Amino acid sequence: MEKQERGHIVALPLPAQGHVNPMIQFSKRLISKGLKLTLITVPPLEMDNIPPIQAGVGGETIGFERLSFPTKEEEGVSSDIQGNFQSYYKQFRQLVSIQLPQIVEKHKNMQASYPVSCLLYDSHFPWALDVAKQLGLAAAPLFTQSCAVNTIHYNVHQGLLRIPLREDQDEALVCMAGLPRLEIFDLPSFFYDREADPFILALLASQFSNFAEADFIFVNTFDSLEEQVVSWAARQWPAIKNIGPTIPSMYLDKRLKDDKDYGLSLFKPEADICRKWLDSKGDASVVYVAFGSMATLGEEQMEEIAWGLKRSERPFLWAVRESELKKLPRNFIEETTEKGLVVPWCPQLEVLAHEAVGCFVTHCGWNSTLEALSLGVPMVAVPYWSDQPTNAKFVMDVWRVGLRAKLNKRGIVTREEVELCIKEVMEGESSLEIKRNSEKLKVMAREAVDEGGSSDNNIQQFVNKLVCA
Ligand code: UDP
Repeated sequence: MEKQERGHIVALPLPAQGHVNPMIQFSKRLISKGLKLTLITVPPLEMDNIPPIQAGVGGETIGFERLSFPTKEEEGVSSDIQGNFQSYYKQFRQLVSIQLPQIVEKHKNMQASYPVSCLLYDSHFPWALDVAKQLGLAAAPLFTQSCAVNTIHYNVHQGLLRIPLREDQDEALVCMAGLPRLEIFDLPSFFYDREADPFILALLASQFSNFAEADFIFVNTFDSLEEQVVSWAARQWPAIKNIGPTIPSMYLDKRLKDDKDYGLSLFKPEADICRKWLDSKGDASVVYVAFGSMATLGEEQMEEIAWGLKRSERPFLWAVRESELKKLPRNFIEETTEKGLVVPWCPQLEVLAHEAVGCFVTHCGWNSTLEALSLGVPMVAVPYWSDQPTNAKFVMDVWRVGLRAKLNKRGIVTREEVELCIKEVMEGESSLEIKRNSEKLKVMAREAVDEGGSSDNNIQQFVNKLVCA
């Protein structure tokens, strides 16, 4: 391909695992279609040696540019994204606003590079649109949550839904174009969690402050998954294109052996231990349990889940992050060594794709939900916060690929409920229907990303436009 024909994108992810994964995978797809892509890393994403990330077929790799905060001593800067998100976010914005133009300039002047023509950024950075425009680049936000959840936040931004909802509305149903009727507890947690951080609420709504001015708008979903709300959104904003599920190609097309993980993990997975353990288990016998990279369950909730797993009498593999380990009941690991394996972090895709896994107890983060859907694994939803309750609602009532565990009066999922849901999903009356639906969605996910599928077409059209620009 001639040098001037190749589009070059700079991609700016939010450095949290659930945001990095879709950005990286989308980046790989863009590269495999001929674009050049440079990904910006900012601590905590910055690692000493980022391994080359191949873009499936073709052997091209993602380019990296690292931004660094001034040292802590000098500026009182914190790269602790979990500890104080608001302060982190402000520093991140400042850092990017200063250093990103320098990077774009550098690539402009590099002989071996291609002129940067587009800034692809996480939708949580609406200000990046101005940065792109100032640099003369096309602006393209990537929304990493579902179209349904985006629509709800859009309604908040428009003042059509207020947060938190009034006390007297607790029993009400919420109606929005393109969405099924939702009860209060089906909405993102900020609608009913009166202790929710107002900064995060404002940030979620702000994603829609200028998105209609973007040149391209991408969402990590696929058309047939959220048909109704997707067609509603497409009528309002034709620039919206669904490009998901952003799952490494090997899991959607077994012929591709190389693209088997996202490529950039903030945690170290216990791949060998998990693989060996799963290999020793029967088909569809294992319960895989994971609550993503951020959820911090209360001690009582952890305890109930732990004893619920034991009561289910199924083999289980549970990813409990280092920082959460102390919440496990005393002696739990010792008492369950026969049945269970607890590790700090799993190679989740590989685990979900293993024949031994028959059920996924999940917090319903959007990536985890899409991964389970794309690999046909039935779910038990135990949502924790943010968009997870809405995803859980869709899992149980719209796609019917799992059950949502009920809360008791004190807001806890009890051990009996955990046991009941696992048994029902794996062998109960509804299990056959759930498995059938899971298989159906797995096929639909594959169709969307296969050559000529809806998401593949959307990506191809974007690539064509950048190349011709
Ligand atoms: N994940 C993983 N190993 C684990 C737990 C999670 O690789 O033990 C990955 C998972 O595959 C997903 C991401 O971490 O891609 C979590 O994203 P999600 O949106 O599900 O949840 P979040 O971490 O944002 O709450």
